[in-house]
Amino acid sequence: MKGAALVLALLVTGCAPALTAADFARGPVRLDTGAAVPAPPVTMTYLGVGGWLIETPATAVLTAPLFSNPSIWRTGLLEIEADTVAIAEGLRTVGVTELSRVVAIVSGHAHYDHLMDVPWVAARQAARARVLTNTTGVRTLAPAWSRLDLDPDRLVDLSSLAADVEGGGTRVPLGPDLRVLPVRSRHPPHFGGLELYDASREAPLEREPRSASEWVGGDALSFLFEVLDSSGSVVRRIYVQDAVSEGPYGFVPEGTDSVDVAVLVPASFEEARWHPEAVMENLRPRHVVLGHWEDFFEPVSVDPDPVPGTNLARFVERLRRALEGDESRWTLPVPGTRIEIR
Ligand SMILES: [Zn+2]
Repeated sequence: MKGAALVLALLVTGCAPALTAADFARGPVRLDTGAAVPAPPVTMTYLGVGGWLIETPATAVLTAPLFSNPSIWRTGLLEIEADTVAIAEGLRTVGVTELSRVVAIVSGHAHYDHLMDVPWVAARQAARARVLTNTTGVRTLAPAWSRLDLDPDRLVDLSSLAADVEGGGTRVPLGPDLRVLPVRSRHPPHFGGLELYDASREAPLEREPRSASEWVGGDALSFLFEVLDSSGSVVRRIYVQDAVSEGPYGFVPEGTDSVDVAVLVPASFEEARWHPEAVMENLRPRHVVLGHWEDFFEPVSVDPDPVPGTNLARFVERLRRALEGDESRWTLPVPGTRIEIR
């Protein structure tokens, strides 16, 4: 029996060296991009799952956070819904209680772990934020929008504005010093080639989703955030994906300047070929920051385990190889970590 457990452990962990406490960023982190042109500082606070609070001097945006974190059993078998107490508690855990400055909540797809908490956050904590997501996300959120009596103009469909590796796309202004280019992406299978909740919504939902399977993803997007100086020139580029994508899906247009920071996702990375190497070749990031890596079937924690089913150590091993061992160029933050980009 012990032998079988050992074989299983070896299969799961492969040969990747185990992660140590030193691999995780737990305090404030400062990333020096070595920019030739002085640029306004940008901070990114990790909220867990796909959630980031991105702050420039004049603008604050969120990528869609999740704090309700229903257990794996509930998610698989029962009804799930936003847990308003857990949302308030989760925000306290990650040290972010003031979201009234937030002007946009951005989500690349409509799975529950990205959009389920968003209507409540938009109603209470970030009450002036627009929600920008894909067509399926807009259609899925419609019933919660009416129940919470939110302004329909605050729900914005980005799908037709997406660029791809060939170019195109429309940049969406978020604030005086920040805009975003949505990029056509594609959600990978969750495990063993199987993508859960893989569908698009053809019409607005008539009642709120009750189970994880009703939070279908739709066509996924990734995001290229561009920080602007006072003359409107781009002085920082930050790429954020909220799901793994297999290239050329998720690539920014050829010819785009290299990005300062790329937020890349380990969860389910082995379901996409050449992730993260391919997207790193496309983005040429100065720094890679990992998001959506921890177990979101447990309440948000500043000391989480990796998400079940993903070999985080192997992902990090591949990332280290892609960065040729330069340890200063990647960060694995625990929720609540604040990253300052200089
Ligand atoms: Zn997800």
